[in-house]
Amino acid sequence: MNPRHYQGIENHIGKTPLIRLRRLSDLTGCEILGKAEFMNPGGSVKDRAALGIILDAESEGRLRPGDTIVEGTAGNTGIGLTVVGHAKGYRTVIVIPETQSPEKISLLRTLGANVLTVPERPYSDPENYNRIAQRLAAEKGWFWANQFDNTANRHAHFSSTGPEIWDQTAGELTAFVSAVGTGGTLAGTGLYLKERRKEIALICADPYGAAMWSWFTQGHTDIKDGESYAEGIGQTRVTKNLDGVVVDRAYRVTDQSAVTIVYQLLRDEGLFLGLSSGINIAGAVRYAQESGPGQTIVTILCDSGLKYQSKLFARQWLEEHHFYWDRPVESVLEGS
Ligand code: PMP
Repeated sequence: MNPRHYQGIENHIGKTPLIRLRRLSDLTGCEILGKAEFMNPGGSVKDRAALGIILDAESEGRLRPGDTIVEGTAGNTGIGLTVVGHAKGYRTVIVIPETQSPEKISLLRTLGANVLTVPERPYSDPENYNRIAQRLAAEKGWFWANQFDNTANRHAHFSSTGPEIWDQTAGELTAFVSAVGTGGTLAGTGLYLKERRKEIALICADPYGAAMWSWFTQGHTDIKDGESYAEGIGQTRVTKNLDGVVVDRAYRVTDQSAVTIVYQLLRDEGLFLGLSSGINIAGAVRYAQESGPGQTIVTILCDSGLKYQSKLFARQWLEEHHFYWDRPVESVLEGS
């Protein structure tokens, strides 16, 4: 075989499997399908955004081999940037809130990123992790990936996640469900699918403490009560990646529903997922219930439970936070 057909890791992001979530599909009479983004080289959906942002900056001459990339991230974008960065000759400096899982922080260090952990602060605070990354870029002349407002992020999903889902379902999907961190996944995938067939419902699943449900259903970001332990999602402002995006429905999802789903999939179906995947799937279940049997609903399995073993998969942590890991999954359909 011609060796020119073999390619490095940066060319093996995406083309992830679409997995049938058996029990929830059977219970709802719908096909509930999860795009296995945890199978990307860096272990999450954010590899796509990281690659897209890097390729875009390279094409505009804003990034050259040997340069340093700096980013504020809940972890997964930093992992993606570091993996792709190594493959393409860049260093990374990652600014991450200290509230994020120790697994992600230590993985970033092991991968060779220069990691700066900072206290969790709101976006309006100059000490917010993302603002610190922006400032460092300006001071040091580094490239700031700016995943929240750099629309190369959503474009990566428009040109890869969307077409893959369309092809894998032979265009038969009726709905796409996604939570919002930067909004890149929801916006890019959603805009592509709507362009193919506008009847495909675009659904936002939002954790408590975030303002996307408020934004999409009320047109303002004022309602953001409650809290969530889901990492990587939970947005309180309208990022540039969400510009012009209209969804058909938005749901608020409790962490308990997501925990119940994540444990059911682990126990019965061999799927080991993080909590944002559970939020997404709970949104898919809700849409299935509202729309009735016969739907084909696609959502995102954002990352693996491996990154949350010390929290979500530790009995002591669950007990301290009053979560139940052994609830029957039917309880999610009953609204608890
Ligand atoms: N889940 C996890 C675990 C994530 O790290 C992220 C990215 N922040 C998301 C979901 C949300 O993806 P997006 O940034 O495309 O909205």
